[in-house]
Amino acid sequence: MKNLSKEIIKRIEDISRPVKIMHVCGSHEHTIMQNGIRSLLPEEVQIVAGPGCPVCCVPSKEVDECLYLAKKGVTIATFGDMLRVPGANGSLQDAKAEGADVRIVYGVSNAVEIAKKIDNEVVFMAAGFETTAPTTASEIITGPPENLSFISSHRLIPPALKFLIKSGEVNLDALIEPGHVATIIGTKPFNVFSEKYNIPQVVAGFNPLDVLISVYMILKQFKDGKAEVQNEYKRAVRTEGNVKAQELMNEVFYIKSKEWRGFPEIPDSVYEIKDEFSQFNARVKFDIPPQKSPNAVKGCICGPILRGIARPEECKLFRTECNPMNPVGACMVSKEGTCNIAHRYGSM
Ligand code: SF4
Repeated sequence: MKNLSKEIIKRIEDISRPVKIMHVCGSHEHTIMQNGIRSLLPEEVQIVAGPGCPVCCVPSKEVDECLYLAKKGVTIATFGDMLRVPGANGSLQDAKAEGADVRIVYGVSNAVEIAKKIDNEVVFMAAGFETTAPTTASEIITGPPENLSFISSHRLIPPALKFLIKSGEVNLDALIEPGHVATIIGTKPFNVFSEKYNIPQVVAGFNPLDVLISVYMILKQFKDGKAEVQNEYKRAVRTEGNVKAQELMNEVFYIKSKEWRGFPEIPDSVYEIKDEFSQFNARVKFDIPPQKSPNAVKGCICGPILRGIARPEECKLFRTECNPMNPVGACMVSKEGTCNIAHRYGSM
C-alpha cells in the first residue's frame, strides 16, 4: 500500500493539479475510512463520497408510504437499516413500538415466507440500487403469494451521477464506480460520462488495494490525457454486466423520475413496477395517497453529504445528538451511511 501511495504521489506531481474523485458506494467509503486511505493520499487528491448508501437515498416520502400502510394494519417487512430511517412523522421503528406489525427481513425471500405464514397483507419495502433490484424482479415474476406486494424504492446510480455532473455543485474530476452495481449493469452505462463530460472513471473492487489502484489508474488517465471507463474489478465485472438480471429488471420495472433524499427529482432514476404486475405494486393495490413529507430533518445535513459537498464533521449534531444509537438522519442509520462510517472510524 505504501509503494502504491508513493506512485500516486509521483503521478500527482506529473499532473500538477488537484484532482477531486467521487465514489458512490457505502462499501468504498467503509474501505477508505477503515484503512485510512485518505491519509495515504497527497492532499491534492481528494476522494469525496456521493449518494452510495441505498437506504440513505430513500426520501422521507417513501418511508411515510410504509408508515401509512403500517397504520392501516398492513404488515411491513424490510431491511433492519430501513426501520430507523426517519419519515416526516417518525420511523418504522417508532410505528413498531406503537404496535404496528413491522418485521426485519434479510431479503425478499424472507418476506415471501412471512406472507405464506400469515393471512394479513404484507408489503416488502424494497430498497437498494441495481445490485438488489433483480432479486425483487425475480420474486415478482415468479408470482409471490397474493397477500404480498412491494413498495419499490430501487434506485439507479448512473442518473444520479449525471445529475451531479450536470449540476456542477460538487465539481468532480473523476469517478470511482461501484463494483457491485457494475456486476449487474456492466461498464457501458458509465461511458457517457467520459465521452460527453471528459471524466476518467475506474470501476473498482472493495479491498484497500482495489481503491488505491483505482486512484492510480485515474491519475494515469489524467497524465496520458485520457478520459475513459477502465475496469479494475475484472474478477467480478464484465463489460456487458449480468444480462439475465438486466432482462429480469426490464421485464418487471419501468424507470421513472423521482426525488432522492437530498436531491430534487432526478430524471429516470427509480425503478417502478410495471402496470402488468400492478397487483404486486403496493402503491396501486392500497391506493397510497401522495405523501407531502419534507425531505430534510431539522439540523441534519444528509442532503449535502449525499451530494458530496459536505462531510459529517460539518454537521453540528454529529457525535452529539446524532450517533448510531440515536440517529437523527438517514446517513447515521445505515452501516453504509457516511455519517455512521465516520462515527465508527473517526474523522477523514
Ligand atoms: Fe444528519 Fe446525523 Fe449526519 Fe448530521 S450527523 S448529517 S444529523 S445523519
